[in-house]
Amino acid sequence: MNILILGSGQLARMMALAGYPLGLRVAAVDVNARYVLDPLTKILSETSLAQALQEADAISVEFEHIPQDLLEQVNATGKLMPSMESIMAGADRVKEKKLLSGLNIANCPYKIITDVNQLDAAVAELGEQLIIKASRDGYDGYGQWRLSSVAQLVELKQQLSELDLQQVPLVVEKMLSFERELSLVGVRDASGEIAYYPLAENLHHQGQLHVSVAPAPHVNDALNQQAQDIFNKLAEKLGYIGVLAVEFFQMGDQLLVNEIAPRVHNSGHWSMQGADTCQFENHLRAISDLPLGSTEVSRPTAMINIIGCDDFSLDVLGLAGCHLHLYGKTVRLKRKMGHFNLCAENYAELGHVIQSLAQHLPAENFPMLKDEAARLMAL
Ligand code: ADP
Ligand code: MG
Repeated sequence: MNILILGSGQLARMMALAGYPLGLRVAAVDVNARYVLDPLTKILSETSLAQALQEADAISVEFEHIPQDLLEQVNATGKLMPSMESIMAGADRVKEKKLLSGLNIANCPYKIITDVNQLDAAVAELGEQLIIKASRDGYDGYGQWRLSSVAQLVELKQQLSELDLQQVPLVVEKMLSFERELSLVGVRDASGEIAYYPLAENLHHQGQLHVSVAPAPHVNDALNQQAQDIFNKLAEKLGYIGVLAVEFFQMGDQLLVNEIAPRVHNSGHWSMQGADTCQFENHLRAISDLPLGSTEVSRPTAMINIIGCDDFSLDVLGLAGCHLHLYGKTVRLKRKMGHFNLCAENYAELGHVIQSLAQHLPAENFPMLKDEAARLMAL
């Protein structure tokens, strides 16, 4: 089977790697230049986009920010999975909020603004601690601004006044002090069958994911059920096929949805070692109409993003349970270069492996490891 992925970054790459053993050929599309390429070698294909669209048995995306005309062109083939509606809900925070409200799914208190002066009303309603998000094209904390007191309001308005808010409105959210961030990655096939990975606990730094631990510690049945019920509502409403990720903030016993990602997700990378079938393979299985693979997990796994650095020794592979996945990119500030997956028999051991790994890595690029190791060791 031929699979075509819109986007040619690390997610397309990891799908291609997962596809090989199943005999699935994965090609990628550069969504700006509109050419077809191999997601592993980055070598351009002689196949044109039109030809690739025709030859593909299934077409999917590695990220949601696809130019509208391309998305429509692909949608017209009838082979796009997940649906165009799902991709657009993930790409546009206004649509996403509407989807959540329409399904009565709890999310963060917010206001949509199309003029900077509406920020005053937002502050009056939501308080002075706010996070302001561009409704489109944001990722990894980009396209976000924070307000921590009204004293900064004038300056912030000045900054935001350069944007065209009629074209791209802002979603202003109350800055929540949640207990932790969790995510549910699951996969749904065309017949409606769903397989869930366990909830992952995610640690962010400056708006960017640094560490995921799965299964998340301290998850009771009720919390798990709450997450799965939300996933089901979304997946059914969207007629979803493929892997879907739902990001949550946990506030007491309640989960608020932060955002959804209509694709394989960074907080599911741990599944490459930690689960019977990884998220990339399950996404391919779902869109290829193959039986879903088991998402069974036998031991805790931590995923550690390698961000903005490549200067560490491969001797780290000598650590028990340490796996490395590099994406073949040149280093840039805040760029995701790869990730480690660390597996251990229990959380305490996992904490020890993280601690050992941290000793081999530059602390400034891995600011969360020391505390996370200590936390897991104490569980
Ligand atoms: P992105 O598309 O960049 O992942 P998110 O909306 O998920 O954007 O925001 C990135 C991170 O910023 C979140 O994972 C969380 O750590 C923090 N964040 C986002 N919204 C809020 C909020 N309302 N309150 C507190 N923290 C937030
Ligand atoms: Mg996010």
